[in-house]
Amino acid sequence: MNEYEIIIGLEIHVQLQTETKIFCGCKNDYEAGPNTNSCPVCLGMPGALPVLNRKAVELACRFILAVGGEINTRSIFARKNYFYPDLPKGYQISQHERPLGKGGVIRIESGEGNSEIMLQGIHLEEDAGKSFHLADSSNIDFNRCGTPLLEIVTMPVIRSAQEAYLFLHRIRQIVQYLEISSGDMEKGALRCDANVSLRREGQHEYGIRTELKNMNSIRGVEKALSYEIERQISLLEQGGFVLQETRLWDESKGRTATMRTKEESPDYRYFPEPDLQPLELSGAWLEDIMQGLPELPHQKIDRFVREYQIPPYDAGVLTSTRQLADYFEETAGLCGKPKQASNWIMTEIMKIMKDAKTAPEELNIPPRNLAELINSIENGTISGKIAKDIVVEMAASGKTPGEIIGARGLEQITDKKVIEQAVEQVLSENAENLKRYFDGQQQLFGYFVGQVMMKTEGKANPHLVNKILKDKLNGR
Ligand SMILES: [Zn+2]
Repeated sequence: MNEYEIIIGLEIHVQLQTETKIFCGCKNDYEAGPNTNSCPVCLGMPGALPVLNRKAVELACRFILAVGGEINTRSIFARKNYFYPDLPKGYQISQHERPLGKGGVIRIESGEGNSEIMLQGIHLEEDAGKSFHLADSSNIDFNRCGTPLLEIVTMPVIRSAQEAYLFLHRIRQIVQYLEISSGDMEKGALRCDANVSLRREGQHEYGIRTELKNMNSIRGVEKALSYEIERQISLLEQGGFVLQETRLWDESKGRTATMRTKEESPDYRYFPEPDLQPLELSGAWLEDIMQGLPELPHQKIDRFVREYQIPPYDAGVLTSTRQLADYFEETAGLCGKPKQASNWIMTEIMKIMKDAKTAPEELNIPPRNLAELINSIENGTISGKIAKDIVVEMAASGKTPGEIIGARGLEQITDKKVIEQAVEQVLSENAENLKRYFDGQQQLFGYFVGQVMMKTEGKANPHLVNKILKDKLNGR
């Protein structure tokens, strides 16, 4: 079998979180009742004039600057002409010859190390409306018409379905970090089309590519690409050839199918939008945006590894959202034990958040309470085992560890005399097992430890139990 090189490029649309639409004053909320957020401008009435939303430009510039792209301080809007039932104007206002931005780099981390995905073009445009079909009618909701969109196109440098997955994941994280979009793919706030082609190792020119559409989740993009790569390989191996076409991903069937074949790329007959001036941006305005940029996920990962001495994997989990990263940093700062804070958050806290579907900032356990819990284990007030029960109660009640420990009498037993007593008791109650232990069944040691812990309701300091039990057994 031949070795193939996989070439993937992605085209991503991000809905920008503005109050109003990109060219009119309608609310940017398409989940309201159908056609309640529309006006002559976004409905494409003759003579209605678009006015550019400054906020949409600002959010787009945030992204371009954050990823190290270049901004054209003078860009031009263009009409992209095509007919579609949910595009009432008959054209989409987009950018073509002089888009808002270009270039930029997205870093991703995989098991094999870090890699960088180069971006090609980034521009602003408007979204179209939405058709929906009922049993006996087809309907159009124009609420989504004029939602500001940021289109991001990558260079054809992605080399596997897994890499595409990591890339999209990072894009979603970045738009959430920058607070420019919800990044919610299921709701269409983040959308992705992919093109993929194969070429034999050593071959210079690109192979014929297919375009994939209709993926509704990041996982869906990965699965569609994996399927399509396998399909193309098997075609080529059988001596066939790949058709240049657009294929739709069918999530339920787990395969792609032809949507349309095209002989050549469509001609949209772009021309400059006569109703909008060229967009001119001042250096000072862009500088202000630059100053307001937050630390990005990959920068946080690097800093966490460096500053808190935690593994890159842990840093990746803790920076999955800005809120979780803040939660970790606050806890680590308050207890002074970053590794323990990281362990607690990555296990118990994330489990609590997942079960209750809450975000870190809505959690009943503020960082100072988690820090107190960690300190209570470190200074021997409670055992790590009991702490796991306490944290569940903290989440349910909002109480501090101190309140719970006090009310339930959960302080760890560190009094040697008390533990010795419990050990003696366990050994005298287990004469039979004791004999077996001395006959060579050393594994019964763990059983005795368990019995002592039960006797002390889990409160005995495990370290002391081990030590005292060992001494007692050796002394017999
Ligand atoms: Zn409108």
